[in-house]
Amino acid sequence: MKTRKPTYVVRPPTAVLTRGFDPALSVGSARPAVFRSSTYVFSSPESAERAFALALGQAQPGEGENIDLIYARLSHPNAEILEDQVVPLEPSAGAAAVFNSGMAAISTLFFTFCPQGSRFLYTMPLYGGTYHLIHHILQPLGFRGIPVRAGDTAGMRRAIRAASGLKLIFIETPANPVLTMTDIAAASEEAKQHPDAPLVAVDNTFLGPAFQHPLLHGADLVVYSATKYLSGFSDLLGGVVLAREPYLVAHLHGVRAILGNILQPDECWMLNGRLPTVALRMNKQSKSAERIAATLAAHDRIAAVRYPAQFSDPDQVRIRDAQCRFPGAMIAFELKGGKRAAFDFLRRLRIARNAVSLGGVETLVCHPATTTHSELSPEDRQAYGITDALVRISVGIEDWRDLLHDFHQALDSVP
Ligand SMILES: *Cc1c(COP(=O)(O)O)cnc(C)c1O
Repeated sequence: MKTRKPTYVVRPPTAVLTRGFDPALSVGSARPAVFRSSTYVFSSPESAERAFALALGQAQPGEGENIDLIYARLSHPNAEILEDQVVPLEPSAGAAAVFNSGMAAISTLFFTFCPQGSRFLYTMPLYGGTYHLIHHILQPLGFRGIPVRAGDTAGMRRAIRAASGLKLIFIETPANPVLTMTDIAAASEEAKQHPDAPLVAVDNTFLGPAFQHPLLHGADLVVYSATKYLSGFSDLLGGVVLAREPYLVAHLHGVRAILGNILQPDECWMLNGRLPTVALRMNKQSKSAERIAATLAAHDRIAAVRYPAQFSDPDQVRIRDAQCRFPGAMIAFELKGGKRAAFDFLRRLRIARNAVSLGGVETLVCHPATTTHSELSPEDRQAYGITDALVRISVGIEDWRDLLHDFHQALDSVP
């Protein structure tokens, strides 16, 4: 018998440009075409029957089987190309599902993996939309959530051990907007020993896919608001869930087909074109943010800077070093002088713009306490460090010296 050479496996920046797309299926075009059809013509009645059986989970696809497309709410060529091409960006991922926003991805994840009456655990604080989903949609429907403080490793371990009927652990790290990090490996370790075998899902929007890879630390699912860094130009909404196990993604595809929240062909096509540059953009943004954060930390109008490269708490430093490659481009800081000083700062910015959202090539600054996190109770905002003096910056790809000049002139003119 001849021993076969192991197949050569290309690295992620190459894979993202070469897999998942066959020019021969798009009349030879070098980049994918957009397929806007809502429905697909079957190659035979038998193929249609087979495609439905597979879509409904009544049969399993054979190795390399060619399956007819059915209807664009279930899937379409641009979703398939995008799902194939995003996989290599998340090491250890086996499959992906794309949604028409980050919240569509997160909602579908909860509805798919939390049976009603089961419990889920989540870190606090987190993205305002996820907070709303938990408090105003899931809990009234009978889903029971257990909050744990981001970064409290011992408390999280205890809460996981004590929870019965636990089906999902949802971690956002770093936590929006205060950038506190949660230990993914510790959560995954506890989940594996838990009798209910809960899945661990990580909202990786802030540091992924360039700087943090949750599946390598034992998580089962990674979720993205693709609206942010993956897309990078603040011009489309999208969401992605990736999993090590393809059957988890198959479940998500099944629920997505009925909720009807698949990402549309044009958006898939746009997002597809952004994937090869996400690491380039994020590296540039992180380097600029690192310089800006270091300088702002010394400014006498700034009371505290929250940025991963500036962590001093030993446990936060340990988690950062264990699970993040670079600090990223989100900075939060507290001004001296409370809300008035924060608002004056925002008013005086000339290059950076006062807007929510993040991850775009342009720099955006917001005031979380009165916008993205205004739904939290005042007590919760206080407890989690979302003070009236806090502003959050998403650093873009402008020259960092111009941004720093802008921040300085705005700080210096705060009365
Ligand atoms: C923006 C964001 C979301 C929601 O994504 P949309 O695309 O706006 O629906 C979820 N999580 C985090 C951390 C985000 O920043």
